[in-house]
Amino acid sequence: MDIIVCIKQVPDTTEVKINPETNTLVREGVPSIVNPFDENAVEAALQLKEKHGGTVTVITMGPPQAAEALKTTIAMGVDNVVLVSDRAFAGSDTWATSYTLSQTIKKLGKFDLIICGKQAIDGDTAQVGPGIAEWLGLPQATFASKIEVNGTTLKVERMLEENNEIVECSLPAVVTVVKQINEPRLPSLKGMMRAKKTEVKMMNAAEIEGDPKNMGLNGSPTSVVRIFTPPPKGGGEVLAGEPAEIVDKLIAKIKERKII
Ligand SMILES: Cc1cc2nc3c(=O)[nH]c(=O)nc-3n(C[C@H](O)[C@H](O)[C@H](O)COP(=O)(O)OP(=O)(O)OC[C@H]3O[C@@H](n4cnc5c(N)ncnc54)[C@H](O)[C@@H]3O)c2cc1C
Repeated sequence: MDIIVCIKQVPDTTEVKINPETNTLVREGVPSIVNPFDENAVEAALQLKEKHGGTVTVITMGPPQAAEALKTTIAMGVDNVVLVSDRAFAGSDTWATSYTLSQTIKKLGKFDLIICGKQAIDGDTAQVGPGIAEWLGLPQATFASKIEVNGTTLKVERMLEENNEIVECSLPAVVTVVKQINEPRLPSLKGMMRAKKTEVKMMNAAEIEGDPKNMGLNGSPTSVVRIFTPPPKGGGEVLAGEPAEIVDKLIAKIKERKII
């Protein structure tokens, strides 16, 4: 079973700083990590490989320093890593990101399953996984809390708000995982040694034969107009008293504001 996992390198902080001129995140000097949901995606792939054999290849689209994130997955035990990086990809929105990743996957050749994280903790759109499935014309199952493979049939338990749902489809397919699916293994010492020696395979826009119409800022139908931290909401008012009293006070306030 040949599995491809998409990981994103993200800032290791919730206190993201915004560059007011470019409306992009300030990444310089901010430590980066593998997007937490993507560690679950790597773990899910390694467990499927242990059960069914095959290979696990991890890819990321990002600046050269994203190679560090790939090395973390080598230390977890994956077989191959690919960094698809090019100035032409700068400013990509999710349309362009998913297109660039799907072009890379086409170039990598045969695969049975693509696994992504549910979402990235910086962009938070959860759009890239489904986008890759669309570009490649593959079935998709999102928010997976359980993945089973039986021959060429994929069975996924999806974690929804109210309940869980079981879906089945044929491979090849795309799955996005939630963090409840597993506990990612820690990098092993042997793995870290191997990561140190690993030369990360790079691919650029020419090598993936990407159409500039779908890549980078110019190939992005959406652009981030402004990113800002919303001002903290003013404190609410706590109405005290017996329940009936509180109801009366509440109705009076609602009337006062001419809501009713
Ligand atoms: C604060 C902020 C807000 C943004 N808002 C938007 C927006 O509203 N619309 C928009 O189109 N773009 C937006 N972007 C840009 C967006 O972050 C990028 O397009 C990004 O590459 C993918 O979107 P995402 O971060 O939401 O990832 P998600 O779609 O949330 O990621 C889901 C999964 O896709 C895979 N994945 C995502 N990015 C990569 C990658 N570069 N390499 C490999 N695998 C990857 C990972 O498995 C990840 O778990 C925003 C960026 C920031 C920082």
